[in-house]
Amino acid sequence: MQVNKIKNSRGEDTVEVNYNGFRGSAPGGKSKGIYEAKDFLTNIDDEISQLKELNVPDVNIFDDFEKIDNITNNLGSTARIALEFAMFQYKGGYKFLDGRKLPRPLGNVIGGGMHKDNSNLEFQEFLIIPNKAKTLKEAVENNLKFHAFIHDKLKKPDKNFNDEKTDEGAWSPNLNNEDVLKLLKKYSGKFKFKIGVDMAASSFFKNNLYKYKDKELTKDEQIDYINKLIKKYDLYYVEDPLNQDDFLGFAYINKKALVVGDDLIVTNIERLKRAMHLNAVNALIVKPNQCGSLFKVKEIVEYAKKNNIIPIISHRSGETMDASISHLAVGLEIPIIKTGIFGKEREYKLNELIKIEKELSLK
Ligand code: PEP
Ligand code: MG
Repeated sequence: MQVNKIKNSRGEDTVEVNYNGFRGSAPGGKSKGIYEAKDFLTNIDDEISQLKELNVPDVNIFDDFEKIDNITNNLGSTARIALEFAMFQYKGGYKFLDGRKLPRPLGNVIGGGMHKDNSNLEFQEFLIIPNKAKTLKEAVENNLKFHAFIHDKLKKPDKNFNDEKTDEGAWSPNLNNEDVLKLLKKYSGKFKFKIGVDMAASSFFKNNLYKYKDKELTKDEQIDYINKLIKKYDLYYVEDPLNQDDFLGFAYINKKALVVGDDLIVTNIERLKRAMHLNAVNALIVKPNQCGSLFKVKEIVEYAKKNNIIPIISHRSGETMDASISHLAVGLEIPIIKTGIFGKEREYKLNELIKIEKELSLK
């Protein structure tokens, strides 16, 4: 098998597999959950050498976990996902699965946190999701239009704004969290979108306190603060508002919003079951490289949907030119895809969805 070391969008090394002429490559996270599967069990060079020697049986990666696990059990999730994405593409992408529904695109327009050095914004991503678009294409265009529009509006509140961006192509002005929320709320009617935030709160939770530039909040104060933000800014979506261990705290976040577990659940079905038992979430992020297996991705998506928990398939902050998550969204009928708005790796995934939408409409 042909296997290459390539760079992701953040310039980090990652793995690309060529399986029978079909390529798959794995992304990398920055604000990673501590309970995620390991990227590498040894190191990238060793795992690339192992991949090159693999004798890969022609198995259904969505059904036969054991066969694929047996040959990849010395590999971390980066190598595993690169291989499985390539095998998925070889099988025909979404066409290999039963589903045929397009997701809605959730994209970040402004951000900070661990996705931008020295950011003033503790919250990692300020997101929009179109609520009136009739087609996926229209929704994608709407997001992109707003990304350009808000750029021009940032100069006024941040005189020194110089087009700084996060790793995911969102603008990163020198404003505070609520300044940004006010701006988004102001234009949400005109551009017909709902507002979301990925707080990625584990990244500023230290010594049992949520540390903001201007305040430190206890767990209970953070819960009150997040619930106030949900009300005040009519937030449709809040991801990781609390630390990644705080299942109990999540139960107190107002479920009028989608309360989404990313670092909390890390695409792990046992953690999802625990969260559901405590009414901690009503939605979860699904990142294939958090678990390193498409069998597990399908399993958790189906389990969530059966239990009225909304799955949201997601990119990572370090991305590659791979559109497997777009195909998974359609083939597994995942209702929302979170994959940014701007930048070639993000747009590649969105354009693939537009292509699929066209293909399906021609049938
Ligand atoms: C996220 O937290 O949702 C995210 C995409 O970030 P990363 O890939 O850096 O974990
Ligand atoms: Mg997140």
